[in-house]
Amino acid sequence: ELLFSKPVRHIAVVGAGYVGGPTAAVIALHNPHIRVDVLDKDPRRVRRWNSPHLPIYESGLIDIVRVSRDGASTCLRATADKPHQSTPTNHPPNLFFTTDSQTSLARADVVMLAVNTPTKTFGIGSGRATNMTTFDAAAKEVALYARPGTIIVEKSTVPCGTAQRVRKMLDEVRPGVDFEILSNPEFLSEGSAVRNLMQPDRVLIGSAKTPSGRRAAEALANVYAAWVPRPRILEIDAWSSELAKLVSNAMLAQRISSINSISAICDRTGADIDEIAKSAGLDPRIGPQFLKAGLGFGGSCFRKDIASLTYLSESLGLPEVAHYWSQVNSMNEWQRDRFAQKVIQRMEENLVGKKIGILGFAFKKNTGDTRESLAVDVIRALLQERPAEIAIFDPCCLSEDIMSELEPVLNATNRERVHVYSDAYQACQQANAVVIINDSDPFRQSPAGQFIEPSIDLSAKTKNIPYYDNSIRNMQYMASKQEGEMVI
Ligand code: NAD
Repeated sequence: ELLFSKPVRHIAVVGAGYVGGPTAAVIALHNPHIRVDVLDKDPRRVRRWNSPHLPIYESGLIDIVRVSRDGASTCLRATADKPHQSTPTNHPPNLFFTTDSQTSLARADVVMLAVNTPTKTFGIGSGRATNMTTFDAAAKEVALYARPGTIIVEKSTVPCGTAQRVRKMLDEVRPGVDFEILSNPEFLSEGSAVRNLMQPDRVLIGSAKTPSGRRAAEALANVYAAWVPRPRILEIDAWSSELAKLVSNAMLAQRISSINSISAICDRTGADIDEIAKSAGLDPRIGPQFLKAGLGFGGSCFRKDIASLTYLSESLGLPEVAHYWSQVNSMNEWQRDRFAQKVIQRMEENLVGKKIGILGFAFKKNTGDTRESLAVDVIRALLQERPAEIAIFDPCCLSEDIMSELEPVLNATNRERVHVYSDAYQACQQANAVVIINDSDPFRQSPAGQFIEPSIDLSAKTKNIPYYDNSIRNMQYMASKQEGEMVI
């Protein structure tokens, strides 16, 4: 039998995070004959994946995990209250979360690397280049324990040329052993991960342009073909696939920075940013998506992927290209500062003794992910003005995650002024101002949402205070009717 051409029976996914966990769950759901092991070195995370309380919140994820992790019979019981859900019958348990990487790697036909690839914070390329330490360590572990003929898949977002570099690394660690390396970047968006994985717009599979590279790509394509229509599975070369992922994120982020730059012009002129975005978006060549002016983009991906693209351009001797893309990140930071200053100005530059409610902490709605939260910079600026209390509420986030993300802005004197509440009402009670950081749905249903509604009129009264998002209130800042008093 030709190497890399046999059907896939075992998949190991390294990294049980926002990408690894949901991706593994969806692959397992659609391929009952494939055993999917998800490996993580963090035993606490693995324990939570094996419990009813998953470590990440994604709509619909627990139902899918129950089918594959526990088998369909458990799922039928668990979802009896959701009759609309189509539940596969006779689904064997084929999804396993474990810390025992050695055993899983040794039996895998395909290993997907879905570990974190943050921005470097030291050395050459600090602040721009990708820190590949974790990724490389995981790849080395695969090289040590995987069988010859294993297909190694880059699921993580990695710099261009990584597949080539990993190949060299494998040749050093296991000389003479055949491995194929594929690029298969993930395009899911947190908050809609399950939907994105179940109905992907496209699946990219990048491989070496060799017969064995193509066979490996085909083997992986067959795994996806269990639920993804074939025309959406694109088999391309590895370098293009790696770059395509960076480009997608860069272009989405660019639209946000573009509209935010225009919102600054609106602030000066009184033009309405929502009307402008609507008008531009009605042109089908532009389209309405990602044209909501607001606080900018947060989260663990856009900023770092643009930084990576910038660094790539620099290292290829293309400073103009590097400058162009770096402006997308600069504009994003500027917008956040501008917003924080606007809040302070609206409070007449005096926050002493005042309570500020912060609704939303995750980088966007429907996720509990607090990484690179937009709230942090806003709270940093507010704390400098010595408010009596910063009162935070986010229905999706754990209090410990919020506090650990805020750690860099806290010190001995301001720490006791920051509190996380488990309901919006408490966070906003007696607040002098409420700042809405993200567009979580529950804000509109919560008691806080009820008193935010009339407050929109308040902002209208002070017409030149731009509020950026009328309908979902992506970024609605409103002052209380009178200081120390809320409309409740
Ligand atoms: P994450 O931090 O949530 O998860 C990574 C996991 O890998 C962690 O649980 C960590 O403990 C584990 N890990 C690290 N080294 C390991 C090792 N050697 N063995 C076993 N486990 C190990 O990260 P994430 O958000 O899932 O992102 C993963 C990759 O996917 C990144 O490259 C990211 O850029 C990319 N990506 C993320 C998203 C997103 O929305 N989060 C979307 C598309 C692509």
